[in-house]
Amino acid sequence: MDPILERYHDLEKKVVAYMPNLDTQRLFDAFTYADSAHHGQLRKSGEPYIIHPIAVAEIVADLELDIDSVVAALLHDCIEDTASTHEEIAKRFDPTVAELVEGVTKLTKMQFVTKEEEQMENLRKMLMAMSRDIRVILIKVCDRLHNMRTMEYQSPRKQREKSLETMEIYAPIAHRLGMQKVKWELEDLSLRYLDPVGYKEIEEELIARSAAHEEFLAGIQQQIAQRLDQEGIRCTISGRVKHIYSIYRKMFAQNKTLDEIFDLYAFRVIVGDIPECYNVLGCIHDMFKPVLGRFKDYIGTPKPNMYQSLHTTVIGRAGIPFEVQIRTWEMHQIAEYGVAAHWKYKQGMANKKLGTEHEFEWVRKLLEGQQDTDAEEFVSTLKVDLFADEVFVFTPNGDVKSLPQGATPIDFAYNIHSAVGNSMVGARVNGRMVPYDHTLSNGDIVEVLTSKSAKGPSRDWLKLCKSNEARNKIRQWFKKERREENIATGRAAFEAELKHAKMTLASITGEEVLPHILHKLRCGTLDELYAAIGYGGTTASKSVARIRDELQRLGRLQAEKAAAAARTLEESVIMPGSAGAGSAEVHGPVKPRHSDSGIVVEGLGNCLVKFAKCCTPVPGDPVIGFITRGYGVSVHRADCPNAAPDRRKPEEADRWIKVSWVESKLPNYRTSLEVSAKDRDDLTLDVAMALSTAKVKVSALSARSMPDGHAAINIVVEVKDKAELEGVIHRLNNIQGVYLVARAAGK
Ligand code: MN
Repeated sequence: MDPILERYHDLEKKVVAYMPNLDTQRLFDAFTYADSAHHGQLRKSGEPYIIHPIAVAEIVADLELDIDSVVAALLHDCIEDTASTHEEIAKRFDPTVAELVEGVTKLTKMQFVTKEEEQMENLRKMLMAMSRDIRVILIKVCDRLHNMRTMEYQSPRKQREKSLETMEIYAPIAHRLGMQKVKWELEDLSLRYLDPVGYKEIEEELIARSAAHEEFLAGIQQQIAQRLDQEGIRCTISGRVKHIYSIYRKMFAQNKTLDEIFDLYAFRVIVGDIPECYNVLGCIHDMFKPVLGRFKDYIGTPKPNMYQSLHTTVIGRAGIPFEVQIRTWEMHQIAEYGVAAHWKYKQGMANKKLGTEHEFEWVRKLLEGQQDTDAEEFVSTLKVDLFADEVFVFTPNGDVKSLPQGATPIDFAYNIHSAVGNSMVGARVNGRMVPYDHTLSNGDIVEVLTSKSAKGPSRDWLKLCKSNEARNKIRQWFKKERREENIATGRAAFEAELKHAKMTLASITGEEVLPHILHKLRCGTLDELYAAIGYGGTTASKSVARIRDELQRLGRLQAEKAAAAARTLEESVIMPGSAGAGSAEVHGPVKPRHSDSGIVVEGLGNCLVKFAKCCTPVPGDPVIGFITRGYGVSVHRADCPNAAPDRRKPEEADRWIKVSWVESKLPNYRTSLEVSAKDRDDLTLDVAMALSTAKVKVSALSARSMPDGHAAINIVVEVKDKAELEGVIHRLNNIQGVYLVARAAGK
């Protein structure tokens, strides 16, 4: 049989072994399609090219991935190296397969020249981000594994480059995805080309001692097997010498020779369930002396890449230490194949959407916030997720920049430096001129064209950029460079917006509202506001909306005060005899008299004013105001005992304010008088007559006779001002028997 066809049949057997119900026609179609597409192409080894895709498909099948992945692996170099296209593959096979092939092709095109460590991190992220479907990265890792296996045919330069890339990019990714077996192989193959001498040294020593190693491994294995058999535990035990790169790393890191390396050997005991794992651990610790501090329970606390096992290091025969890993079969699958193993388990769920971003939420979660602190175990600390929010692009020098998803050349330019952004006159992506609003994709090479005569950023850029960094830097520029212009453009925008909102500038610049508005907008002056609008620190529409809110709030406040005052008035009906008995503070006895009160309150402009019930001031009286809690300003006579400085509470000192009379707008002010007299017949009648003659309106009048022959008459009158009141007092004083007429105050 044709050796190539034979090779294909091996693949098919491997696939059918884990997918017994598979219709192999599709697989065969993929093979014949790839075979004819690559027809005539040879690998560096001299083999027909098709051997490579078949081999990659075999590795994919070793991972037991789904049929789409195997088909895509067979086709993975078609778009890159042959005349076939995405459309053709989509039509001939299916769109999913075409997407996978396209994804692998994209990764293949990436060139990873040696970078700083921080850049490597971004590169790994970019690779992950580009593989929206996790199967893309799995196939790509398999592709890389086969290329590394056949690296001997490449030029030394290419060997070095690819090995470095494998060590720095693909092995860590394999580790992140939990594929230990693949990771080890990638590491060992890379080391072979990166430090051939070091690799060889270890390899040769291991070979030279292989007989001794085999003997040691077999002896320990047998010992463990016997013991577990006695305990009635069914298990599978294997022993191995650790992989070369892991030994190499330890020798290097600890500057030791091979002889001095701690735990060169590792045993693995695989059992049926978790309780058995702990039973085995007990037996091992009983048989051999455990090394302190080397026991790790990754069953109780799995590693972030899903790895689970019990690890312990014990001292064996002749004082040789070795590691034992104890796990169940399921844990073993995951340890060897990682994400790929999960993939296999999920297949049973027959979900068509398998492999889409949504399905791989768990991978994202798994990879997010991953932090390995176990320096003994791991190459380096990496943090990888699927980075849906980030896009990774290159500078022309090959540096990687991470930008928010949807970023434009503007973001890129400002990410490099604000000076680059400010002098940008154009941008090229992958060698082609693009508009400023061009959305960057993973792997793009972006070049910013700058000019010394550039006019600086345009305001439109604020809308085009996606990163806060770019936005802030653009605003900064406008803020600094163009204050006058900012004020002018800001003012124009603001006034247009005001007009649109049917408001006038005059309505907000009144001295009663402007301070509130500026405070609300956090600006010192209107110019500051205009400037902020001008450079984009805020927008005209936002500002006007805030102003409108503030005006509404002030309006509501006024309305509430008026309503409260009206309530107060209703509640306080002055009864005869009660005049002067009120508290000094809140009980306003008179009409609500906001702006028309005839009182000006210093520093407060137009506010709610009431006249204190205790002293009922009238125009002309020296007065003082008290700011009440919630009911405006209460106005007292300056000589009211309740307003006397020694009666003011210290904590309310600030509440006492200057008030003064202005031209009265009210016809009358209500006030109370107390008349003391010697009691006699008709006294009250005479008082009433006097008031009537004085033509004042009497609101209330009550008289009481005292046991000692005196009388007290309380009167509430309405007067225009102090002069009129004094006229009334004068008349009352002339009544026979009256010896005192006093303004009510205090109490
Ligand atoms: Mn390939």
